[in-house]
Order: sequence, then C-alpha cells, then structure tokens
Amino acid sequence: MTAPVVRLPGKCPICSRPAVVRYRPFCSRRCSDVDLHRWLSGRYAIPAAEEDDPDDEDAPAPAEAEKKPK
Ligand SMILES: [Zn+2]
Repeated sequence: MTAPVVRLPGKCPICSRPAVVRYRPFCSRRCSDVDLHRWLSGRYAIPAAEEDDPDDEDAPAPAEAEKKPK
C-alpha cells in the first residue's frame, strides 16, 4: 500500500508525534492502547473514593427535624 498517511495538526498525547486521523488523537494503534491502559489503571487505582461518597449522602441530620416546629 502506498496510500499517504493523513495527519492532523494535533500531536499524539503519548509520544508527541503528529497524530493520524485513523488513530486520532494518537499517532498509532499502539499509543491508543497505551492511553487506554493508563485510563483504566488510573480508574481502578482509587478505591478510597468509594468509601467517602455513600457515607456522605446517607448521613441525615436528625437534629434539624427537631428544630422545625409543626
Ligand atoms: Zn504516539
């Protein structure tokens, strides 16, 4: 195949090479995979966040109910 590689003005966030339309915003399939890997590992690397969220919403203030006279 001698088809010319179409390039975008942007750069690959992984290796800073000119991005390719087919793999945008990356320069190659490899860099695309690398980014995906980073994204996934970064997401699973924060188990502590799960403990904070549910507790906050499930903590009503019973004191406020008493303050309100009916
Ligand atoms: Zn790249």
